[in-house]
Amino acid sequence: MLSLWRYALIWTAARSTATLNTKASSSNGNGAGESLYRAVVDTAVDAIVVIDRTGAIRSVNEATQRLFGYSASELVGHNVNMLMPEPYAGEHDDYLMNYLRTGTKKIIGIGREVAGKRKDGSVFPMELSVGEARDGGEPIFVGIIRDITERKTAEIALRESELRWRSIVDTVPDAIIVIDASGMVESFSPAAERLFGYTADEVVGQNVKMLMPQPYRSQHDSYLARYMRTGERRIIGIGRIVVGQRKGGETFPMELAVGEFASPSGNFFTGFVRDLTDRQEAERRIEDLQTELLHASRLSVMGQMASTMAHELNQPLTAVTNYLEAGRHLISSGAAPPERIADLMEKAVAQAQRAGEVIRQLRQFVSKGETERREQNLNQLVEEALALGLVGARQSGVRVSLELDHELPPVMVDPVQIQQVVLNLVRNAVEAMEAVERRELTIATRMSGDTIEASVADTGPGIPRELADRLFQPFVTTKKTGMGLGLSICREIVEAHHGRLTAEARPEGGTVFSLMLPKANEDEAADAP
Ligand code: ADP
Repeated sequence: MLSLWRYALIWTAARSTATLNTKASSSNGNGAGESLYRAVVDTAVDAIVVIDRTGAIRSVNEATQRLFGYSASELVGHNVNMLMPEPYAGEHDDYLMNYLRTGTKKIIGIGREVAGKRKDGSVFPMELSVGEARDGGEPIFVGIIRDITERKTAEIALRESELRWRSIVDTVPDAIIVIDASGMVESFSPAAERLFGYTADEVVGQNVKMLMPQPYRSQHDSYLARYMRTGERRIIGIGRIVVGQRKGGETFPMELAVGEFASPSGNFFTGFVRDLTDRQEAERRIEDLQTELLHASRLSVMGQMASTMAHELNQPLTAVTNYLEAGRHLISSGAAPPERIADLMEKAVAQAQRAGEVIRQLRQFVSKGETERREQNLNQLVEEALALGLVGARQSGVRVSLELDHELPPVMVDPVQIQQVVLNLVRNAVEAMEAVERRELTIATRMSGDTIEASVADTGPGIPRELADRLFQPFVTTKKTGMGLGLSICREIVEAHHGRLTAEARPEGGTVFSLMLPKANEDEAADAP
């Protein structure tokens, strides 16, 4: 553009009767100079129009003739306002006069988007830049005109598609967040504003990790970088349950689906977020997963079990109490024959065994009931269970570290059951740490030999000594409202998967529970539906 501009000026100078003698024109000689400049100007894609102080056209290049549909002879000598639609056409003479009198520039040296008019009357958008030169003391003006119809059409199409996109983004109930490859938020939909409590202004241009609690927050940059480097997908195109953090610091479980698109300015990721806090929503999602057990809430499974169990156990336990009471009476009366007492004791034992049988059956039902084993990535199960297990835990100041081995081979498990185990361990750990200052939860996965292990470590007070041997037995609890069934069911589930569940005291204090599962056997995997 700049060099064209110079050529145009030189050309103007060369054509004029030349008091203005440029270096180029003098060194080339007038005749050769003129034909050279003429060639250059005529090759220009932009239209070039030279006018004098009255607005009369002095010369035009070929592009001008093509663009406006006039021949040079129809233009030269005529007022340049013939190339403009109203109101510009009517104002142009005054504008020129005003400029010559006052020197107030509206276009000269600036460049503007204006409208042009073709011979056939059609009007089109054009970009105009105007320069001024002198010809024998008289001012002349060089206009360079570019047709921007295509650019404008493209701009309008873009704006329309943006509007269309906006209207979608503004109406879908899911929160939509677009980030660039470095994690910076590009756009934040109204639903996202409602969900996270931030306005778009507060988030756009910031790193998206501000919407996540630890440990996701500190890991997100390296996760993105690794994805850009290796293409390894953990969420993109898959969809996961993760934890989000609202402006006030409150955390909530959310379902996240991420799409990716590449544009000339780089790669972008679109996140669709659905809040799972809403119980119905969680249940719908769980139905989708075709699960029977509600892994969003350990309580509801426990609650169901508790009422069944209370009902089933009430009878034998009442009987045990009655037999023992009667026995005590007989003993204190001093006159009862020992066989009577032995008989009562025997009956009490039988009832207690019946109670034990009820419990055994219930545990079997829970752990072995309807199960559907599939090849699963333990990391994903652990992360999702963690997200659900941590609901509400952030408020109590629990710091979480995730140390996942991303090379783990799959395990062959019922995903819902294994998530229940992890969820239970996480809940226990969080509850145990309520009593202490330092609250650190470390979730790790690793492989050793053919065993795949997930561990849940806390910095709580450790397992009470008197419980150590009976930890995995039913009804062992130190909690006021505890059922003491969690760990016994967990072990049952893990053993039904040919795995092991252990608890150990950590040397630095706290407890670590380890869930060990065998690697999915290839034959087994091949047989799986
Ligand atoms: P509940 O949670 O209903 O008590 P569980 O079988 O899950 O039933 O746990 C049994 C008991 O084991 C708990 O009451 C608690 O005393 C102890 N326990 C479980 N996990 C931990 C832990 N991470 N740290 C300390 N004690 C624990």
